[in-house]
Amino acid sequence: MAPILGCIADDFTGATDLANMLVRGGLRTVQLLGVPESGTPVPDVDAVVVALKSRTIAPADAVSQSLATLDWLKAAGAQQFFFKYCSTFDSTDEGNIGPVTDALMDELGADFTIACPAFPETGRTIFKGHLFVGDELLSDTHMRHHPLTPMTDSNLVAVLGRQTKREVGLIQHRQIEQGVPAIGAAIEALKAEGTSIAIVDAVDDGQLYTVGEALADLKLITGGSGIALGLPANYRKAGLVGENKAADQVAAVEGPAMVLSGSCSAATLGQVAEFAKTRPALPLDPLAIADDPGTVDRAIDWAKSKLADGPALIHASAPPESVKAVQEKLGRNEAGELVERAMARIAEALVAGGVRRLVVAGGETSGAVVSALGVKGLHIGAQIDPGVPGTVTMGGQPMALALKSGNFGAPDFFEKALRMMP
Ligand code: ADP
Repeated sequence: MAPILGCIADDFTGATDLANMLVRGGLRTVQLLGVPESGTPVPDVDAVVVALKSRTIAPADAVSQSLATLDWLKAAGAQQFFFKYCSTFDSTDEGNIGPVTDALMDELGADFTIACPAFPETGRTIFKGHLFVGDELLSDTHMRHHPLTPMTDSNLVAVLGRQTKREVGLIQHRQIEQGVPAIGAAIEALKAEGTSIAIVDAVDDGQLYTVGEALADLKLITGGSGIALGLPANYRKAGLVGENKAADQVAAVEGPAMVLSGSCSAATLGQVAEFAKTRPALPLDPLAIADDPGTVDRAIDWAKSKLADGPALIHASAPPESVKAVQEKLGRNEAGELVERAMARIAEALVAGGVRRLVVAGGETSGAVVSALGVKGLHIGAQIDPGVPGTVTMGGQPMALALKSGNFGAPDFFEKALRMMP
């Protein structure tokens, strides 16, 4: 059976977040990494999420990768398409949300789409077109100072208006409260006045379900993972997918396990400390790696010596003051790449040495590890903690992976992930 829903995500962990949402809604889902090559076999699932790394690249490159992915998804038989970006609308006046939306609409011949990054479960809500994070306007949060996509305007109608050649409008919360027919009428009214993209208000999951139901006939939907909540019900109603209660069933993978962490986010620091109370843990100092590349080989030997006794942890995770000291010595990007390369090499060596189950903390770190391991796709399994599913690699000898970005996960995330990877 061809997939019903084809998704293009502008980063790796964002793709996983969306895939996790679809699986929770009962759709069998796989995540593919990078623009699929033309011969890539179409998996027998309800939804495919393609993870690009296009959030902050040049707009023309983001457009061409997104269009190439759309081509593949169309050829795979997908009937509805989803462009997934961050729930904090990470972008600049140049893009890439506007240019990619324009290109996808042109290619699909779509005369209307919505833009809805709301994700109430994580505090992202939209009211009168303004995006809130928790109780604050987006522009009052740390996103104001983001190094690549500083968000200094919370009015999404204005923000998107600067990025697209199309007219941007708004579907307001009171129209959503009136239900599906009122949303349909709002869409028709916007179209009649020449508006072809609408920001959509949503402050709770109930509103997202209502909006989702009203989008059944749209060729293209754009937004965060929250707006995907209502889509599975549409496909069931149309008879396109069955009652799939086992969408999160993935193959069991047995074998030695290891935890790698290259994330310095607060949640990860807590998880590292918690795990290290009962399991062997080896800190990896970026300055030591820079001084002596043999440091990484010794870490690999250490990990291999622990494999027989159960999972151990190698981590570069460190508190802000020590990260700052490292960055001052090595440079921010250089330090980041050094640690990512080290984690990728360790993962490769451990997998070559028999590790079959791997927990990785850090969005960029996860990206570096999966690309070093040559992973092309992931079957998405049950949720470990909000936003993070267990996964099993596609093709070749299957491996179980739990890939966690920054501030996701409870303090016992590592143990929980290992328990859920049978
Ligand atoms: P998160 O998801 O928490 O943001 P990422 O893996 O995306 O984690 O990003 C963390 C970045 O910090 C990576 O580039 C990683 O290599 C780098 N890093 C990890 N540990 C250190 C450290 N001790 N000092 C400096 N940089 C580090």
